[in-house]
Amino acid sequence: MTKAPTNPAVPLRVVDLIRKKRDGHELLREEIEGFVSGYTRGEIPDYQASAWLMASFLRGLNTAETAVLTDAMLRSGAILDFSHFSARKVDKHSTGGVGDKTSLVLAPVVAAGGVIVPMISGRGLGHTGGTLDKLESIPGFSVRLSLKEFDHVLATCGCSMIGQTAEIAPADRQLYALRDVTGTVECPPLICASIMSKKLAEGIDALVLDVKTGSGAFMKKEEDAVFLAKLMVDTGARMGKDMVALITDMDQPLGHLVGNSLEVVEVIDILCGKGPQDLHDLCLELAGWMFYLGYVVKTVAEGRDKAASIIASGKGLETFRRMVELHGGDPRVIDNPALLPQAHGKFDLVSATKGYVGSIACESVGTACVILGGGREKKEDAVDPAVGIVLHKKVGDAVDSGDPLCTVHYNSEDRAARSKALLESSFRIADAPPATRRPLVHRVIQSSEAKP
Ligand code: URA
Repeated sequence: MTKAPTNPAVPLRVVDLIRKKRDGHELLREEIEGFVSGYTRGEIPDYQASAWLMASFLRGLNTAETAVLTDAMLRSGAILDFSHFSARKVDKHSTGGVGDKTSLVLAPVVAAGGVIVPMISGRGLGHTGGTLDKLESIPGFSVRLSLKEFDHVLATCGCSMIGQTAEIAPADRQLYALRDVTGTVECPPLICASIMSKKLAEGIDALVLDVKTGSGAFMKKEEDAVFLAKLMVDTGARMGKDMVALITDMDQPLGHLVGNSLEVVEVIDILCGKGPQDLHDLCLELAGWMFYLGYVVKTVAEGRDKAASIIASGKGLETFRRMVELHGGDPRVIDNPALLPQAHGKFDLVSATKGYVGSIACESVGTACVILGGGREKKEDAVDPAVGIVLHKKVGDAVDSGDPLCTVHYNSEDRAARSKALLESSFRIADAPPATRRPLVHRVIQSSEAKP
């Protein structure tokens, strides 16, 4: 990337910034800061911000530009101070997946184990689901707390889950929503700035990153996931945080349920000691690291055991119930998930042949859920909390001709037809199960302070 000649006497014009990045030049600190503050204040319109994002997506941002962008986005709002809590503050963030509902399990389980979890999450992004959309499927649940309310919920139950606000990470709130609908998501520097700007605003001591790889991840190839993980681990470590990134598998949906309220059902199952094995195992692995970085256990293995016993004792479920109540949500959904929004229509997609599920095109399953209304195709779209997909078969499972592969929950015939066409081509049936199983955790990347 080359440096372009600039004349500091000439005031910054957004169109020049776009052209400069479009032509592959490195942007100066003041140019990136000007862009972030101008867009956050509403002075730069969406069409220019979209063009800047696309130029950055195509041309890339180098390490220095990424650091400046992250810093400018972080400083667009308040940096929270939770030093009045004596316990360690630890959070977890995923780069995004399909059926990835681990945050809703981890926050209450880890809080029940004595660590403070102040979580700022995002909405659905591209084909991936969003923690905020899932939480909002619980009737009454508000993810828009004031800072005082956020503090109160943390003091009362140890965890709270909110979205970016006008006060916290406002630049990410706006850029995130724009990236979602402009094809500018799958870009390591933009993902790093988005995630780290809101996580560094949380006043945490340590962060566990779940960086996904596989057909349903933004980083399909493991080497790209590793690059992104290192970028974020280095960014956090530079800011004095203990950091670890787990490269985890997203080559098929996590668990069996995809879609906002459906995923809450699976969260409740896990907190009740039931639920699918892959989701359960990943929750324990991530919780193990959160406990370890929260200094409540000496090893990650001990952390995993602690998480398992918190779930078995019912304390994780009770903390979840308390958090739901404190956020204004209806806690009755926990004992009666049928109170969550339900879709009006359902149909099964059946296997045409006998064999084994060889692969599931995971991104297509996520996109099918977005098409059903579970995500946004335009910024102003409202999300339908009830729609989604129930997977009956996962990779390696045996199927007979006529067996249901999945059940689609829908509210619009037209959307159902569009998603059906996509889902039909998502399952590959093979003569034999895959010879090797992909691991749940591919690699662990740590900052030096975070080493067990
Ligand atoms: N999660 C985020 O918060 N931002 C991204 O860009 C991707 C995943």
